[in-house]
Amino acid sequence: MCCSHNNNKEAEFVEVGSSSLFLTFIGYKMVYLALCVFYLCCCCSHAASGGIQTFVLPHSHMDVGWVYTIQESMHAYAANVYSSVTEELSKAKDRRFIAVEQEFFRLWWDAVATSTQKKQVQQLVKEGRLEFILGGQVMHDEAVTDLEDQILQLTEGHGFLYETFGVRPEFSWHVDPFGASATTPVLFALAGFNAHLVSRVDYDLKDDMQKEKKLQFVWRGSSSLKEKQQIFTHIMDQFSYCTPSHLNFSNSSGFYWNGVALFPDPPKDGVYPNMSLPVTKDTLHAYAQVMVENIKQRAAWFRTNHTLWPWGCDKQFYNSSVQFNNMDPLMKYINQNSQEFGVTVQYASLSEYFQAVHQSDLTWELRGSEDFLPYSTEPQQAWTGFYASRNVLKGVARQASSQLHAAETLFTRYRLTFPDGPVAKVWALDKLRALRWAVSEVQHHDGITGTESPKVADMYVQHLVQGMMGVEELLAALFLLPHNLDMSSVLDSVYHRKGHRSLGQHVIVYNPLAWNITTIINVTVTFQNATVFDDEGRPVPAQIQTSAQSNVTFDLFMRVELGGLQHRKYLIKFSDRKCAGRSKCGRTYAAKGVRFERRRVRDWTRTGRRLLPVLNECYKLMFDQDTNLLHSITYLEEKKMVSVSQDFWEYHANGDVKAGPISDNYIFSSSRGSAVRAYQAVEMEIIPGKIVSEIRQYFYREENEKDYAYSITTRVPECFGTTLRCHRLEQTYSLGSLLLNTEVILRTSTDLRSNRTLYTDDNGYQMMKRPYREFTNNTIARNYFPMVRTAYIEDDLSRLVLLSDRAHGVSSQASGELEVMLHRRLWNNQPWTLAYNLTLNDSSVVRPTLWMMLGSISTTTRLYQREAVELQHRPVVMPIDQPQRPWPEKKPRGRSAVRSVVLPPNLHLLSLSIPGWNYSSDHDVHLRHILSGVDLRSEPDYDRVLLRIMHLFEEGEDPELSKPVTVNLKEVLQSVGEVKVVEERSLTGTWNISRLQRWKWKTVDNLETENKGSERHGNETFSVTISPKEIRTFFIHFGSKDF
Ligand SMILES: [Zn+2]
Repeated sequence: MCCSHNNNKEAEFVEVGSSSLFLTFIGYKMVYLALCVFYLCCCCSHAASGGIQTFVLPHSHMDVGWVYTIQESMHAYAANVYSSVTEELSKAKDRRFIAVEQEFFRLWWDAVATSTQKKQVQQLVKEGRLEFILGGQVMHDEAVTDLEDQILQLTEGHGFLYETFGVRPEFSWHVDPFGASATTPVLFALAGFNAHLVSRVDYDLKDDMQKEKKLQFVWRGSSSLKEKQQIFTHIMDQFSYCTPSHLNFSNSSGFYWNGVALFPDPPKDGVYPNMSLPVTKDTLHAYAQVMVENIKQRAAWFRTNHTLWPWGCDKQFYNSSVQFNNMDPLMKYINQNSQEFGVTVQYASLSEYFQAVHQSDLTWELRGSEDFLPYSTEPQQAWTGFYASRNVLKGVARQASSQLHAAETLFTRYRLTFPDGPVAKVWALDKLRALRWAVSEVQHHDGITGTESPKVADMYVQHLVQGMMGVEELLAALFLLPHNLDMSSVLDSVYHRKGHRSLGQHVIVYNPLAWNITTIINVTVTFQNATVFDDEGRPVPAQIQTSAQSNVTFDLFMRVELGGLQHRKYLIKFSDRKCAGRSKCGRTYAAKGVRFERRRVRDWTRTGRRLLPVLNECYKLMFDQDTNLLHSITYLEEKKMVSVSQDFWEYHANGDVKAGPISDNYIFSSSRGSAVRAYQAVEMEIIPGKIVSEIRQYFYREENEKDYAYSITTRVPECFGTTLRCHRLEQTYSLGSLLLNTEVILRTSTDLRSNRTLYTDDNGYQMMKRPYREFTNNTIARNYFPMVRTAYIEDDLSRLVLLSDRAHGVSSQASGELEVMLHRRLWNNQPWTLAYNLTLNDSSVVRPTLWMMLGSISTTTRLYQREAVELQHRPVVMPIDQPQRPWPEKKPRGRSAVRSVVLPPNLHLLSLSIPGWNYSSDHDVHLRHILSGVDLRSEPDYDRVLLRIMHLFEEGEDPELSKPVTVNLKEVLQSVGEVKVVEERSLTGTWNISRLQRWKWKTVDNLETENKGSERHGNETFSVTISPKEIRTFFIHFGSKDF
C-alpha cells in the first residue's frame, strides 16, 4: 500500500525539499566536489560525464490484495502492466522494468500472455531488461509472519521462476512492509541474495541515517550465524519507492503520465484520471529541473555517487507506452545537458544499481541482529495496531499453514512408500499446491496484517478455507484408502463390542513433528459418556466434561503418545448412560465443575485470604475466591512463588480525526490515555480432573449482566508420572463482539522485577530484547511489538513465557507486566479510510490460544523454542467416521504402525515435501531444457524430496542444546525410504549450495562470508552438522533412481 500515511509524509518531504532548495543546492555542491575526487580515484563507466549517476528504476508496486481483490486488480491494471511493459521494453534496448510480486506475474503468464509475449519476455529476461527481483509470491509482511510461511511463499515464487526461466532472484525489494525484521536478511542471504532493500523504518531514525549517510550497511541479522549469513542492506531514503508526486509547474501529479488506475474497468478511451502533463518542448526543461533537483537531494544521503531513482508507485505502468514515451525524451534531455545539470540518468534494473555500488569497493558499517520494529511514520503514527488487526484471519492463516505442513509430510511418506498407491500423485499435488498458494498469498503485507478491505479479507479466508478443505480430502484419502500408511485397514477393527446400545467412532491422530510426543488432545463429542481405546485395543486414559463453549457438547480429553511423523487410530465408544463404575467408563474420568459466585470489583476490599490451589507436578496455581482471579503460581522445581494475575483491559480508541490522533487498522494510538479495566465482575468455575484441570473465568462488563464479555479457560495438565509436559498451561480466550472503538488486552501482572524490558520474537526465528523507551508523546503505542510465537519477561531468577498460535501485539507498560493485544474493533471518519472501506469494524468473536510457562531462566530456555514449535504443529485430529455401531469383531492384529522419524531435540523438521516445481541438479542442463522449449511445467519430479532442518537454539543459549549437532540423514530417514543422494541447496532450492557464490561486501572487521556447503554424491557421507540457528535445505533422492 502507499496511501494516506505514506503520501502525507511524502507531501511534507517534498515541501521541505522545494522550500529549502538553496540549502540543498549548497549541500549538493559539497557532495559534488567530494564525488569528483572520488571519481578521480576510481574509474567508473560513467565517470567521463561526471556528476551523479542516476539509476531510473521503472516499477509498479502491485499489492496482492489490500483494497481490491486479486481478480479485480488483474482486470483493472495488473494484467495490463505485464502486457504493456513487454511491448514497450521490446521497442527500445535501454528500457528496463523490475517484476516483483510473482502471483500477479504467474497469473498473467498462465492466463493472459500470448505465445509471442512469452517469447518476448524470455528474451527480455535473458538480456536483463526485465528483471525478477525478490521473487516471492508476494512481498511478505515482516512483523506478523512466521518464518515457515515466509520460506514457503518465497519458495513457491522462486520455484516458478526457476522452472520457467531458469532465473534465481538475487536482490530483495521489500519497499512496503511496515517495519523490517532481522530475520528477513538472514532468509534472503540463505536464499542466495546479494543485497537486501527495505524502506519503512522509523521516521526519526531514517532522518538521522540520511544525514549521516548510513542508509547502507552490512546486516548480520542472526547473532548466531553472524557473518556467515550477512547481507548488504539498502534503506530507501525518505521518498521511499514512489516518484515525487508533486510538480511545482503543474497541478497534475508527478512522473505518472499514465495517471491513476481505474476500478472496476479500465477506461475505454485509455484516458485515466490525473494523468501528468505530457513532456513537450514547453514542459521539458521544467520536468528536468524537478527531476534533477530531486536526484541531487537524494544523492547527498548516500556515500557513492550512484542514485537509485525508483520510477513508479502503487498500480503503475498499466499503460507503459505513455510512461516511456514521456520519460525517454526527458532522460535524453538531461543527459544532453549533463554537464550543466551535474547528473546523468539511465534506465536500470536493481542489479545494475547494486553492481555499481558493489564496484565502488567501499568498506561498510555493520549492523547486528537488531531489527527495525516497531515502525512510526511520525510521532503520533505508530504502526503497531496491525499486530492485532483481524485476529481471525491471522488465526486461520496459521492454522492453514500448520495443516499444510502435516499434509506435506504425510504425502511425502505415502508417495515414497506406495509410488503406485491409489492416492493419485497429480491429484494430491494439486490439493497441496492450492493450499501452498493460499498460505503464500495471505503473507502479503496487506494480508495477514489485517490492513485490507473487508472483501479482500474475505478473499484470503475463502482461498485458505478452500485449500484446507482440499487438503482434508487428501488427508482422508491417505488415511483411509487401501495401502494406507498404517498397513492395516481401518476396517480391521480390533475392538470388542460391549452391549448393543453403544456407538463407536474412529479418530486418527497424526504427529507432524519429527519428535516423539506425549500430549493431550481434545475431541468435542455429543455424548456424556465415552471410553477410548488405542489401535491395540488397550484403554486410553481420558476425561470427559461439559464443554466450555456449549451446554450440549462435551470435551473429551485423551492422552496420546506418538512417534515423530506417526499416526495412530483410536476408537471412542459412546453411551448416553452415565458412568456407573469403572467397568462402564474404562479409564475415562467424568469431571465435574465447582462454580464460584460472581465477585464484584467494587467489593474487592480484602484479597488473598481465601486461596484455592490447583496443582500439577510443575506448578501450584492459586486462585483467589474473593476476586475469582489468578493470585500466584509457584513453580515447584525451585519452590519459587511468583504472584501472577490476569485480566482484561481496554484501550478506548479515538475515531474522530478532528479530535486528535486515531487508531485504525494500521495505527495504534493511545491518545485517549491508558487502558481501563474491561469488567465489573468475575465468575469462576474449577473442574478438577485426572487428565487436565480446567479453570474457567468469565468477565462481565457490568455487575449484573447476563452474558460475559470475555473469558479465560486455563488447562493445567495432570501428569501421573508420565513424560507429559506439566509446565504447559494452555489458555484459550473468548472475546467479542467488541464495542466499537475498543482495543482489548489480556494483562498478565507479576512481581517479576523486569524493569519493563520485554523479549519478543522476530518471526518465530529469534528473540529480540525490547527495553522500554520513553518518547515525548505516544509512548504507550511506540512500546508495542509484534509477537509471532513468543514473548517473555524475566528477572534474575524467573521467566514468564507466553507462546502464541497466531500473531498479536505485545507490550510491557509496567515492571513485571505483559499485555497482549488480542482483538480490536475500530471505526474512524478519515475520508480516505471511508472511501476505500478500510475501517476495521471487525465484529467477530475470537478464540486465540496462548501457552503460558513459568520457571527458572535455564528451564524455560530449554523449553520455549520447542514448545513454540509444538504449539504451531499440534497433532492433527481427524474423526474418520460418524458415531455408529462398532464394526464386526475381528481378531486383534499385531500393531503395524508406521515407524517414526525422530530428530534430536534441538533440531526441527522445517520441511519434508515434494516440490511442485521442476528443479535440476545441473543448472546448465536445466537452462538447455528451457532454451529448447521443453514444457517442464507438465511433470514435477515426484521422487525429489525437499528437506529442511533448523537448529532451534542460539549460540551459547543453553550448555547442551546450543551445541552443533550431527545427524546422519540416511539413518534419520530410514523409515521414509532408502536415501541415495543428498544435495544441499539454497533456502528455496534453486542453487546447488556449493556453486552459490554470493557477493562479498567489505566490512570494518573484514570477516567474509563462507559457504560451508559441499557436494555430496553416491555413497559419500550422509552426515550433516547443523550449528545454532542454521537452516539447511536439501534435495533428497530415495530409492534406486539414477543421478
Ligand atoms: Zn504494498
